[in-house]
Amino acid sequence: MSQHPAQDRLKDKVALITGAASGIGKQIATLFARQGGKVAILDLDLEAAEATARELNEQGGTALGVGANVTDEAQVEAAFRKTIDTFGRLDVMIANAGSQHVEPIHKLSYDNWKKVTDIQLDGSFLATRAAFRQMMTQGDGGCLIYMGSVHSHEASAMKSPYVTAKHGLLGLCRTMAKEGAEYGIRANTICPGYVKTPLVEKQIPDQAREHGMSEEEVVEKVFLAETVDKEFTTVEDVAETALYLATFPSNALTGQSIVVSHGWFMQ
Ligand code: NAD
Repeated sequence: MSQHPAQDRLKDKVALITGAASGIGKQIATLFARQGGKVAILDLDLEAAEATARELNEQGGTALGVGANVTDEAQVEAAFRKTIDTFGRLDVMIANAGSQHVEPIHKLSYDNWKKVTDIQLDGSFLATRAAFRQMMTQGDGGCLIYMGSVHSHEASAMKSPYVTAKHGLLGLCRTMAKEGAEYGIRANTICPGYVKTPLVEKQIPDQAREHGMSEEEVVEKVFLAETVDKEFTTVEDVAETALYLATFPSNALTGQSIVVSHGWFMQ
Protein backbone atom coordinates (compact mmCIF):
# COMPACT_ATOMS: atom_id res chain seq x y z
CA MET A 1 0.00 0.00 0.00
CA SER A 2 1.12 3.48 -0.82
CA GLN A 3 3.01 4.64 2.28
CA HIS A 4 5.05 1.43 2.59
CA PRO A 5 7.28 -0.44 0.19
CA ALA A 6 5.22 -2.91 -1.80
CA GLN A 7 5.76 -6.48 -0.70
CA ASP A 8 3.82 -9.54 -1.65
CA ARG A 9 4.36 -12.09 1.07
CA LEU A 10 0.62 -12.84 1.09
CA LYS A 11 -0.06 -12.44 -2.63
CA ASP A 12 -3.12 -14.53 -3.66
CA LYS A 13 -3.76 -15.51 -0.03
CA VAL A 14 -7.10 -14.90 1.65
CA ALA A 15 -7.29 -14.23 5.39
CA LEU A 16 -10.32 -13.85 7.65
CA ILE A 17 -9.64 -12.12 10.96
CA THR A 18 -12.26 -11.93 13.71
CA GLY A 19 -12.52 -8.78 15.83
CA ALA A 20 -10.53 -6.93 13.16
CA ALA A 21 -12.24 -3.53 13.32
CA SER A 22 -10.10 -2.42 16.28
CA GLY A 23 -6.77 -2.85 18.04
CA ILE A 24 -4.64 -5.91 17.31
CA GLY A 25 -6.97 -7.41 14.69
CA LYS A 26 -7.11 -4.16 12.75
CA GLN A 27 -3.31 -3.92 12.64
CA ILE A 28 -3.05 -7.53 11.44
CA ALA A 29 -5.58 -6.77 8.70
CA THR A 30 -3.59 -3.67 7.72
CA LEU A 31 -0.27 -5.52 7.53
CA PHE A 32 -1.79 -8.47 5.67
CA ALA A 33 -3.42 -6.13 3.12
CA ARG A 34 -0.11 -4.31 2.72
CA GLN A 35 1.51 -7.67 1.95
CA GLY A 36 -0.90 -8.35 -0.90
CA GLY A 37 -3.37 -10.49 1.02
CA LYS A 38 -7.14 -10.32 0.53
CA VAL A 39 -8.56 -9.65 3.96
CA ALA A 40 -12.01 -10.21 5.48
CA ILE A 41 -12.53 -8.02 8.51
CA LEU A 42 -15.15 -9.77 10.65
CA ASP A 43 -16.48 -7.79 13.59
CA LEU A 44 -19.54 -7.42 15.77
CA ASP A 45 -19.44 -3.77 14.77
CA LEU A 46 -20.37 -3.89 11.07
CA GLU A 47 -19.97 -0.15 10.58
CA ALA A 48 -16.42 -0.22 11.98
CA ALA A 49 -15.59 -3.34 9.93
CA GLU A 50 -16.79 -1.65 6.75
CA ALA A 51 -14.91 1.55 7.62
CA THR A 52 -11.70 -0.44 8.17
CA ALA A 53 -12.17 -2.26 4.85
CA ARG A 54 -12.78 1.04 3.08
CA GLU A 55 -9.61 2.50 4.62
CA LEU A 56 -7.53 -0.46 3.44
CA ASN A 57 -9.10 -0.44 -0.04
CA GLU A 58 -8.39 3.29 -0.38
CA GLN A 59 -4.75 2.53 0.37
CA GLY A 60 -4.61 -0.02 -2.45
CA GLY A 61 -5.46 -3.16 -0.47
CA THR A 62 -8.24 -5.70 -0.99
CA ALA A 63 -10.51 -5.89 2.01
CA LEU A 64 -14.09 -6.80 2.88
CA GLY A 65 -15.95 -5.79 6.04
CA VAL A 66 -18.30 -8.45 7.42
CA GLY A 67 -20.61 -8.07 10.41
CA ALA A 68 -21.00 -11.10 12.69
CA ASN A 69 -21.15 -12.03 16.32
CA VAL A 70 -18.60 -14.83 16.70
CA THR A 71 -20.87 -16.57 19.22
CA ASP A 72 -23.72 -16.87 16.69
CA GLU A 73 -23.40 -20.02 14.59
CA ALA A 74 -25.54 -18.80 11.67
CA GLN A 75 -23.79 -15.43 11.54
CA VAL A 76 -20.33 -17.02 11.57
CA GLU A 77 -21.30 -19.47 8.81
CA ALA A 78 -22.72 -16.60 6.73
CA ALA A 79 -19.60 -14.48 7.23
CA PHE A 80 -17.31 -17.27 6.04
CA ARG A 81 -19.63 -17.94 3.08
CA LYS A 82 -19.54 -14.27 2.11
CA THR A 83 -15.74 -14.18 2.36
CA ILE A 84 -15.30 -17.31 0.26
CA ASP A 85 -17.90 -16.17 -2.31
CA THR A 86 -16.08 -12.83 -2.60
CA PHE A 87 -12.45 -13.97 -2.60
CA GLY A 88 -12.80 -17.57 -3.85
CA ARG A 89 -10.89 -19.35 -1.08
CA LEU A 90 -9.51 -19.14 2.47
CA ASP A 91 -5.88 -19.59 3.52
CA VAL A 92 -5.59 -18.02 6.96
CA MET A 93 -8.09 -17.71 9.82
CA ILE A 94 -7.23 -15.66 12.88
CA ALA A 95 -9.53 -16.10 15.89
CA ASN A 96 -8.82 -12.75 17.50
CA ALA A 97 -12.13 -11.40 18.83
CA GLY A 98 -12.05 -11.11 22.59
CA SER A 99 -13.21 -9.15 25.57
CA GLN A 100 -12.13 -8.70 29.17
CA HIS A 101 -13.90 -8.47 32.51
CA VAL A 102 -11.99 -7.61 35.69
CA GLU A 103 -13.67 -8.71 38.94
CA PRO A 104 -12.92 -11.09 41.79
CA ILE A 105 -14.71 -14.45 41.63
CA HIS A 106 -17.00 -13.79 44.59
CA LYS A 107 -18.52 -10.79 42.80
CA LEU A 108 -18.53 -12.27 39.30
CA SER A 109 -21.94 -12.92 37.73
CA TYR A 110 -22.51 -15.97 35.54
CA ASP A 111 -23.45 -13.55 32.79
CA ASN A 112 -20.09 -11.80 32.88
CA TRP A 113 -18.26 -15.13 33.06
CA LYS A 114 -20.13 -16.33 29.97
CA LYS A 115 -19.64 -13.11 27.98
CA VAL A 116 -15.87 -13.53 28.13
CA THR A 117 -15.65 -17.30 27.72
CA ASP A 118 -18.30 -17.48 24.96
CA ILE A 119 -16.56 -14.99 22.68
CA GLN A 120 -13.16 -16.57 23.09
CA LEU A 121 -13.97 -20.28 23.27
CA ASP A 122 -17.31 -20.76 21.49
CA GLY A 123 -16.38 -18.03 19.00
CA SER A 124 -13.03 -19.65 18.25
CA PHE A 125 -14.69 -23.05 17.83
CA LEU A 126 -17.21 -21.72 15.32
CA ALA A 127 -14.58 -19.84 13.32
CA THR A 128 -12.19 -22.80 13.43
CA ARG A 129 -14.80 -25.25 12.18
CA ALA A 130 -15.85 -23.01 9.30
CA ALA A 131 -12.24 -22.40 8.29
CA PHE A 132 -11.20 -26.04 8.70
CA ARG A 133 -14.03 -27.31 6.49
CA GLN A 134 -13.10 -24.86 3.74
CA MET A 135 -9.37 -25.63 3.96
CA MET A 136 -10.07 -29.39 3.89
CA THR A 137 -12.15 -28.93 0.74
CA GLN A 138 -9.48 -26.83 -0.95
CA GLY A 139 -6.94 -29.57 -0.24
CA ASP A 140 -3.84 -27.36 -0.18
CA GLY A 141 -3.40 -26.60 3.49
CA GLY A 142 -4.08 -23.56 5.60
CA CYS A 143 -3.16 -21.67 8.70
CA LEU A 144 -5.16 -21.20 11.90
CA ILE A 145 -3.97 -18.61 14.39
CA TYR A 146 -5.46 -18.05 17.85
CA MET A 147 -5.05 -14.81 19.79
CA GLY A 148 -4.02 -16.10 23.18
CA SER A 149 -2.24 -13.97 25.76
CA VAL A 150 0.44 -14.23 28.40
CA HIS A 151 -2.72 -15.22 30.28
CA SER A 152 -2.68 -18.46 28.28
CA HIS A 153 0.29 -19.36 30.52
CA GLU A 154 0.06 -17.14 33.62
CA ALA A 155 -2.85 -16.26 35.88
CA SER A 156 -3.70 -12.83 37.22
CA ALA A 157 -6.15 -12.24 40.03
CA MET A 158 -9.58 -10.90 39.08
CA LYS A 159 -9.47 -12.24 35.53
CA SER A 160 -10.81 -15.77 35.99
CA PRO A 161 -12.96 -15.97 32.81
CA TYR A 162 -10.23 -14.43 30.64
CA VAL A 163 -7.41 -16.60 32.04
CA THR A 164 -9.59 -19.71 31.73
CA ALA A 165 -10.53 -18.92 28.13
CA LYS A 166 -6.98 -18.05 27.09
CA HIS A 167 -5.66 -21.31 28.58
CA GLY A 168 -8.47 -23.13 26.77
CA LEU A 169 -7.40 -21.72 23.42
CA LEU A 170 -4.07 -23.55 23.74
CA GLY A 171 -6.02 -26.81 23.94
CA LEU A 172 -8.05 -25.99 20.84
CA CYS A 173 -4.91 -24.94 18.97
CA ARG A 174 -2.98 -28.10 19.85
CA THR A 175 -5.92 -30.31 18.93
CA MET A 176 -6.23 -28.53 15.57
CA ALA A 177 -2.50 -29.03 14.95
CA LYS A 178 -3.09 -32.78 15.31
CA GLU A 179 -6.36 -32.93 13.34
CA GLY A 180 -5.04 -30.54 10.69
CA ALA A 181 -1.75 -32.29 10.00
CA GLU A 182 -3.05 -34.67 7.34
CA TYR A 183 -4.56 -31.72 5.45
CA GLY A 184 -1.53 -29.45 5.78
CA ILE A 185 -3.46 -27.19 8.16
CA ARG A 186 -1.21 -25.61 10.80
CA ALA A 187 -2.44 -24.12 14.09
CA ASN A 188 -0.55 -21.76 16.37
CA THR A 189 -1.30 -19.29 19.15
CA ILE A 190 0.13 -15.81 19.65
CA CYS A 191 0.41 -14.78 23.29
CA PRO A 192 0.90 -11.01 23.63
CA GLY A 193 1.71 -9.10 26.78
CA TYR A 194 -0.17 -5.87 27.44
CA VAL A 195 -0.91 -3.92 24.25
CA LYS A 196 -2.46 -0.44 24.41
CA THR A 197 -5.77 -1.01 22.66
CA PRO A 198 -9.34 -0.11 23.69
CA LEU A 199 -9.49 -3.46 25.54
CA VAL A 200 -6.60 -2.44 27.79
CA GLU A 201 -7.46 1.26 28.05
CA LYS A 202 -10.81 0.18 29.53
CA GLN A 203 -9.08 -2.01 32.12
CA ILE A 204 -6.84 0.68 33.58
CA PRO A 205 -9.56 2.41 35.67
CA ASP A 206 -11.15 -0.96 36.57
CA GLN A 207 -7.85 -2.37 37.80
CA ALA A 208 -7.03 0.86 39.65
CA ARG A 209 -10.33 0.59 41.51
CA GLU A 210 -10.00 -3.14 42.29
CA HIS A 211 -6.34 -2.83 43.40
CA GLY A 212 -6.84 0.49 45.24
CA MET A 213 -4.05 2.11 43.18
CA SER A 214 -3.72 5.14 40.90
CA GLU A 215 -3.88 4.51 37.16
CA GLU A 216 -0.13 5.25 36.82
CA GLU A 217 0.64 2.70 39.53
CA VAL A 218 -1.51 0.09 37.76
CA VAL A 219 0.49 0.52 34.55
CA GLU A 220 3.84 0.34 36.35
CA LYS A 221 3.13 -2.21 39.09
CA VAL A 222 0.55 -4.46 37.43
CA PHE A 223 0.75 -4.23 33.64
CA LEU A 224 4.47 -3.82 33.08
CA ALA A 225 5.93 -5.04 36.38
CA GLU A 226 7.35 -8.29 35.01
CA THR A 227 8.58 -7.08 31.61
CA VAL A 228 12.34 -6.84 31.09
CA ASP A 229 12.16 -3.20 29.97
CA LYS A 230 8.85 -1.75 31.24
CA GLU A 231 7.52 -1.47 27.71
CA PHE A 232 4.10 -2.23 26.28
CA THR A 233 3.92 -4.73 23.43
CA THR A 234 2.58 -2.99 20.31
CA VAL A 235 -0.06 -3.90 17.76
CA GLU A 236 2.75 -3.90 15.18
CA ASP A 237 4.72 -6.50 17.20
CA VAL A 238 1.70 -8.80 17.24
CA ALA A 239 0.89 -8.25 13.56
CA GLU A 240 4.49 -9.10 12.55
CA THR A 241 4.19 -12.34 14.53
CA ALA A 242 0.93 -13.17 12.75
CA LEU A 243 2.59 -12.54 9.38
CA TYR A 244 5.48 -14.81 10.33
CA LEU A 245 3.08 -17.60 11.27
CA ALA A 246 0.86 -17.06 8.22
CA THR A 247 3.81 -17.29 5.83
CA PHE A 248 5.77 -20.08 7.51
CA PRO A 249 6.48 -22.59 4.78
CA SER A 250 5.98 -25.97 6.45
CA ASN A 251 4.20 -27.99 9.12
CA ALA A 252 7.30 -27.82 11.33
CA LEU A 253 5.79 -24.87 13.14
CA THR A 254 2.44 -26.11 14.44
CA GLY A 255 0.77 -26.57 17.81
CA GLN A 256 2.94 -23.83 19.33
CA SER A 257 2.35 -20.71 21.32
CA ILE A 258 4.60 -17.72 20.66
CA VAL A 259 4.83 -15.27 23.54
CA VAL A 260 5.37 -11.64 22.51
CA SER A 261 5.53 -9.78 25.81
CA HIS A 262 8.84 -7.96 26.42
CA GLY A 263 9.92 -10.94 28.49
CA TRP A 264 6.98 -10.82 30.91
CA PHE A 265 6.58 -14.55 30.41
CA MET A 266 9.50 -16.72 29.25
CA GLN A 267 8.83 -20.25 28.06
P1 NAD B 1 -10.13 -4.46 21.02
O1 NAD B 1 -11.19 -4.25 22.03
O2 NAD B 1 -9.37 -3.30 20.50
O3 NAD B 1 -10.72 -5.25 19.75
C1 NAD B 1 -11.57 -6.33 19.91
C2 NAD B 1 -12.51 -6.38 18.71
O4 NAD B 1 -13.30 -7.57 18.83
C3 NAD B 1 -13.47 -5.19 18.64
O5 NAD B 1 -13.46 -4.62 17.33
C4 NAD B 1 -14.82 -5.80 18.96
O6 NAD B 1 -15.92 -5.16 18.30
C5 NAD B 1 -14.63 -7.23 18.47
N1 NAD B 1 -15.55 -8.16 19.12
C6 NAD B 1 -15.85 -8.22 20.44
N2 NAD B 1 -16.78 -9.16 20.64
C7 NAD B 1 -17.07 -9.69 19.44
C8 NAD B 1 -17.96 -10.70 19.01
N3 NAD B 1 -18.76 -11.33 19.87
N4 NAD B 1 -18.01 -11.01 17.68
C9 NAD B 1 -17.22 -10.35 16.80
N5 NAD B 1 -16.35 -9.39 17.16
C10 NAD B 1 -16.28 -9.06 18.46
O7 NAD B 1 -9.17 -5.53 21.68
P2 NAD B 1 -7.65 -5.99 21.36
O8 NAD B 1 -6.84 -5.56 22.51
O9 NAD B 1 -7.27 -5.66 19.99
O10 NAD B 1 -7.84 -7.57 21.52
C11 NAD B 1 -7.83 -8.48 20.45
C12 NAD B 1 -7.45 -9.84 20.99
O11 NAD B 1 -6.13 -9.78 21.54
C13 NAD B 1 -8.36 -10.35 22.12
O12 NAD B 1 -8.57 -11.74 21.95
C14 NAD B 1 -7.55 -10.09 23.35
O13 NAD B 1 -7.87 -10.94 24.42
C15 NAD B 1 -6.14 -10.36 22.82
N6 NAD B 1 -5.09 -9.78 23.64
C16 NAD B 1 -5.06 -8.43 23.86
C17 NAD B 1 -4.04 -7.93 24.66
C18 NAD B 1 -3.96 -6.46 24.98
O14 NAD B 1 -3.18 -6.11 25.87
N7 NAD B 1 -4.66 -5.60 24.28
C19 NAD B 1 -3.07 -8.78 25.21
C20 NAD B 1 -3.14 -10.14 24.95
C21 NAD B 1 -4.16 -10.63 24.16
